[in-house]
Formats: sequence, C-alpha cells, structure tokens
Amino acid sequence: MRILREKLRILCAALVSVVSFSACVSAQKSAPVFDNHVHIMSPQMIILFKDVGIPFSKPDADYSDITAIRKRLGTDRFNLISMAYLFGNPEFGKVEDVRKAVEAENDFAAAAKSTDPQNIKAFCGIDPLRDFALEEAKRCFEKLKIDGLKLHFNASQIYLTEPEHLEKVRPIFTFAAENGLPVLLHFDNSHPKFGETDVNLLVDEILLKIKPVKLVLAHFGTSGGFSEKTKKVLSAFIKRFKEEPKLAQHRVLFDISAVALDKDSDGVLKLSDEQFLEVKEYAGKLGFDKIVFGTDYPLYSSAQYLKILKDRVKFSDREIAEILSEKGDVTNEKK
Ligand SMILES: [Zn+2]
Repeated sequence: MRILREKLRILCAALVSVVSFSACVSAQKSAPVFDNHVHIMSPQMIILFKDVGIPFSKPDADYSDITAIRKRLGTDRFNLISMAYLFGNPEFGKVEDVRKAVEAENDFAAAAKSTDPQNIKAFCGIDPLRDFALEEAKRCFEKLKIDGLKLHFNASQIYLTEPEHLEKVRPIFTFAAENGLPVLLHFDNSHPKFGETDVNLLVDEILLKIKPVKLVLAHFGTSGGFSEKTKKVLSAFIKRFKEEPKLAQHRVLFDISAVALDKDSDGVLKLSDEQFLEVKEYAGKLGFDKIVFGTDYPLYSSAQYLKILKDRVKFSDREIAEILSEKGDVTNEKK
C-alpha cells in the first residue's frame, strides 16, 4: 500500500485530494504570477489512470484542457509539466507501446503550450532509464521546441547510488546543459535512506561534470510536505553551496510547490503550525534568491497557495515578492 501511496504521490498532483474552492478563489482575479509547476494530462492518460482505480476529484477538463487549467489555476503564466515519465510504470496501467505513449503525452503538452507560447512554457517528461530517453529529449527540443525537461526520480525509481543509473541520468543533464534547457527534478526516490548521499552524488557526479545548467528541485528536494527528510536534503544542499564554489556556475533553484500543505495529500500529512514556521526558517537559510513559486496544480490554485504562504508560513510581503521574482521563469535564460 505504501508503494501505491508513493506512486500516487508521484502524480504530485494530488489527484485524489479534495481541493475545496473557497469563496476567495472564485473572487480571485488572474494573478500575474509565474507558476513553475503546473501539470497537464492528456485524455488518454486520464482514461488509463481511471482504469486502474485512481480517483479524480475534478472534471477531466481541469486536468487536460488548457483553458480550464488557466481558469482554475488563476494565472496565465506558467511552466506546463508533462507526466509522460509515468508511462510504463505498472502501477499506472499497461500501455502496449511505451515510447509511443510517452511521445504522444509530450506532444500533448507542447500543443497546449502552442495556444499561448509567450506565457506558457512546456516541459517534456523524460524517464532517463528508458532506452529512448535521450532521443526523446532531443525530439522534444528539436521538433517540439519545448522549454525544459522534467525528471521524476520516484516515478522512474532512480538511485544515483547505482552506477548504472548515474550513467543514464548524466547524459540527460549534459544534453540539457548544452542546449540551455532547464531541468525540473523530482529528486526524492522515496528510499528511506534518500538524503545527503544523493545530494552529494548529484553535485559531484553530475553537476560538477557538466556545463552550466539551470536546475530546479521540485518540492524543496523531497516529495511534498516538510519532513525531517526535507530538512536533511536542504541542509545538504546548503552545505555544498557553501563549500563548493564551482556550484555557483549553475543556477540551482528550489520550487516550494506542495511543501506548505494545509491538507493531507496522498499520504503526505498537512503541516503543523510548528512545521509551517520551519518552512520559513529553512527558506531563510537557503536564501530567497534560490526559491521559486509553484503550485503543483491541480493541487492548489495560485491564489490559494499564495494565501497559505502568507497566512500559514507567514512569509513577509518582501519574502513573497522575492519568491515571485522573475527568476521564477526557469526558461528566461534560455538562449
Ligand atoms: Zn508535480
């Protein structure tokens, strides 16, 4: 069950959670914020997931229709994240031709972006362990003209402690670095020992061996919520930033999506008042110049999540402004 829970969490989209839309949201105006972490699913993916019993709490359009997504999210400017990396994972239903399904899903995200390419940036979902991973990254970049790559180490069950995995992940990062593509990384693979060792492997065996890259760690480096593991991972990064001057050549950022949970979500518990304050404490340690805004939509709308950051985490207006500042557009330095 734990595995299924974790797999559900992979959707990181809280498909099963009930987001109650409060009056404040219906009254909200389109906030001019940039949201770094917004999911889209094709109708085919929704059918597949429904077939294996994954419940959806909202109308299908809210997951797959770009107009409905924009409306419910409440901002027009965002990174649209394909979840193509889930195909082939037996927990999410069987597809006959994984590669074809992955390509179709990434095509779907790219097509949604094409409705407003000025404001919407698309990220292809890539599973580095697939034989065709690098070819798909190239296809996404050259043919689909996408803006970034999303890797999900829990969905793909990637362990940098496994030399074989490392050898498959590094070429994807190299490709991203050489082509100015940002990488959005769900780093936590859910292993109980995931932590400092993995951070050091990412730094020493990948980041210090490639050209400058823009890397955004989703959910502050773990899988949502704010646990002891999140603190350990953040502390390990902070340590390396201090001790390793060469890391400064990269732009390493952390998205705060799904961290400040005010409701339980797929087995991840909502935060206590004390934990909300710890989020603020660790954000200060990390530095607001390294934090970007994201909702993990459909988990929250932008207005809902900003309200939580203000009222529960108690970020000051200035801190909120720093989180929302333009570095939030991870593609803004793309050549
Ligand atoms: Zn997500």
